[in-house]
Amino acid sequence: MESRYSRQELFSPIGQAGQEFLAEKHVLIVGAGALGSANAEMLARAGVSEISIIDRDYIEMSNLNRQQLYTEEDAYFSLAKAEAAKQRLRNINSEIKVNGIVAEFDSENAESVLEGADLVIDGTDNFSTRFLINDAAAKRKMPWIYGGCVKSHGVCLAILPGETPCLQCLMDVIPQEGETCDSVGIIGPAVQMTAAHQTTEALKILTNQEPSKEMLYFDVWGREYSSMIVSGLLNPDCASCSPQANYPYLRKQKGLRTAVLCGRDTVQVRPDASKPISLKDLAHRLKPVAQKVRENKELIVCYIEGVRFVVFKDGRTLIHGAADVAEARKMYQRFIGA
Ligand SMILES: [Zn+2]
Repeated sequence: MESRYSRQELFSPIGQAGQEFLAEKHVLIVGAGALGSANAEMLARAGVSEISIIDRDYIEMSNLNRQQLYTEEDAYFSLAKAEAAKQRLRNINSEIKVNGIVAEFDSENAESVLEGADLVIDGTDNFSTRFLINDAAAKRKMPWIYGGCVKSHGVCLAILPGETPCLQCLMDVIPQEGETCDSVGIIGPAVQMTAAHQTTEALKILTNQEPSKEMLYFDVWGREYSSMIVSGLLNPDCASCSPQANYPYLRKQKGLRTAVLCGRDTVQVRPDASKPISLKDLAHRLKPVAQKVRENKELIVCYIEGVRFVVFKDGRTLIHGAADVAEARKMYQRFIGA
């Protein structure tokens, strides 16, 4: 019987030797949204031995146009993305190990989450998380593949600590205009094209070959492609990748933290350090004030005073429809407690 990887082994730049390398490698994917899903599926099918995928969010119907690992049923049950991704990847390839981590990738866990991985794939939708990946990867001298897409555009760059400029070195040349898929939209092909380039560079690195050191931009709708040589932009005084780096994004933050999530009417509130909470106890406690309470293994969804709460078991909470951040914080303290 032919091996499941026979067609990939016939491709001479990989071959059997490359396949053997893949069978020993561990890839961490930060974000299980559109890019994370597409990269994860390709790497699982390619036979990468271990895949870890970390994500803070849950599945909604509006994700389904581009987040290929998920189904209508996952959205109906508001499943946590990392958990649903793990199940789906296991169904795709039962020969590999898959770890789903339901948590925010942050300055407290970044270094430990990278532990044991050979490479990181950027599947995030925001620059603060990308700069954190950049710091953690630079500190551990681990390669990572930056990718981003919005509308019909995409960008991809392999970042190799000590060899290529890092994201911090490239601050001025990376477009960060703040357009997000929630504000200006996105089409599936832009995701697939970006992920195809990310996975390709990942396969080169994982099989001990040279990745491209150019930053690629494209517009799949307008059929425009360009790439930029960035090797001259390595900053010898870079705060993230020079010998005197102080890794600004890895420095710890304290206290109840809030963040407005990517273009939607949502505030995320996090307690100081993650403290697991009992979802059962919380559901019981919220009974007198909450309506439409739904619960699964990873989270509770409910409405309190017309505002939608999604509480994860590490205490992190997404609040949809509060007037502003201050109001969301206040409601968190009143109803969830911290
Ligand atoms: Zn740098």
